[in-house]
Amino acid sequence: GARNILVTGGAGYIGSHACKALARAGLNPVVIDNLSRGHADAVKWGPLIAADLRNTDRVRDTLRHHRIAAVIHFAAFAYVGESTAQPELYYDNNLGGMTSLLTAMRAEAVDQIVLSSSCATYGIPETLPITEIAPQRPINPYGRSKLICEWMLQDAATAWGLRFAALRYFNAAGADPEGEIGERHDPETHLIPLALMAAAGQGQLHVFGDDYDTPDGTCIRDYIHVSDLARAHVLALNHLGAGGDSLAVNLGTGRGHSVREVIDAVARVTGRAVPVVTAPRRAGDPDSLTADPTRADNRLGFRADYTALDQIVADAAPWFGHPGIE
Ligand code: UDP
Repeated sequence: GARNILVTGGAGYIGSHACKALARAGLNPVVIDNLSRGHADAVKWGPLIAADLRNTDRVRDTLRHHRIAAVIHFAAFAYVGESTAQPELYYDNNLGGMTSLLTAMRAEAVDQIVLSSSCATYGIPETLPITEIAPQRPINPYGRSKLICEWMLQDAATAWGLRFAALRYFNAAGADPEGEIGERHDPETHLIPLALMAAAGQGQLHVFGDDYDTPDGTCIRDYIHVSDLARAHVLALNHLGAGGDSLAVNLGTGRGHSVREVIDAVARVTGRAVPVVTAPRRAGDPDSLTADPTRADNRLGFRADYTALDQIVADAAPWFGHPGIE
């Protein structure tokens, strides 16, 4: 039969898109999610176990009962600002969850895992685009929690033969092009959703800093379509399932867009003006973050399909007050 894959955090934004990609590839997603930030109705491609990962016994039971072959670990808090204000929350949830999951996997002899990691583990880059051998010096508790998760995987690999793929996401954006699932964060803090909401008449977009060292003064990020990200997880599972060795890869397009370019794309795609005000810089925002995507291509055969910013914006638009935008 098809392989059963445990998806922690599968009720969340990237996790739910990954479940769809798994199902499309003939794999069976089994979601475990405590629903603290996810949405039960986003779990559409397999069972949902509503439990906290820190309940090691529940995780062990799930691994055994569903004959899980491999794990994709999304469940974590992921707001930089919140992590700075409440670091204990981030270390408790993100490291507690990772610790419990690894304990359960070792006990049940499940030895393959794909981790949601982040470009936030690099901190402020010395050179662009960022390659995987760049120093990892995170500048906030969120990024530190993800870097520690990577270290935990390396230590488990050494201790008991775990094999892992650490996927360092750049800026996940967009939504399922078929409209089955979308992006729903509460509170919403991400640029593309907030710009779409502003274009739909819900408030103004605050541009956090326009005096950065970039051509138009606003920050540059590498926006990667969430459905591309989701597909990369399937490729990473296939790599591990075929006996491949542990790796860490960037997931980005290799192209950067400024905040102003995103605003222009939102106006173009929706046909509406985006009301903006310039606001102070947000703490901990580097000028530019772009991925060197070469290793993901070489090791996993992954390349982003959706590289057009307008397409990413158009796929997100229906979820933020713009029905019928294609
Ligand atoms: N940004 C902004 N206004 C907002 C939200 C974000 O100007 O209301 C900027 C932010 O400073 C960063 C970029 O948009 O340069 C992307 O931010 P987001 O929070 O979407 O993702 P992050 O890069 O923090 O993961």
